[in-house]
Amino acid sequence: MKFLKCPCCGLDATNLGVRGVVYALMKEFPDLKVTSATRCEKYNKKKNGAIRSGHLPMWGPDGNECVAMDITLKKWTRERSRKLFYEAITNGAQGVGMYDNHIHIDVKSRRQLWRSKSGRLEYFF
Ligand SMILES: [Zn+2]
Ligand SMILES: [Zn+2]
Repeated sequence: MKFLKCPCCGLDATNLGVRGVVYALMKEFPDLKVTSATRCEKYNKKKNGAIRSGHLPMWGPDGNECVAMDITLKKWTRERSRKLFYEAITNGAQGVGMYDNHIHIDVKSRRQLWRSKSGRLEYFF
């Protein structure tokens, strides 16, 4: 799978749980693409990522795994992206965030659903 590594340093700490969710989704969405997974501290800062981002290698049983992936569809339509959002939940994602051109999924222990609207995050739960 492409784009699992941090683009700046090549670190790949992406955990099996989130990989499993994405593999399951790929069966229904063959044009699914991963745009970001593991990010080191430096790269996460550069990307203005959250301080406790699921993309950082600080999760999982040993606190050294990335539990998040950003995914998109080659054919990104409103209808298909909404379906992907729901299917991500069905397939075991805990955190799911809808953005303009991608969906963030993670397997943190807490369920959290949100969307980004004009750059601001709107939480549903
Ligand atoms: Zn890096
Ligand atoms: Zn993300």
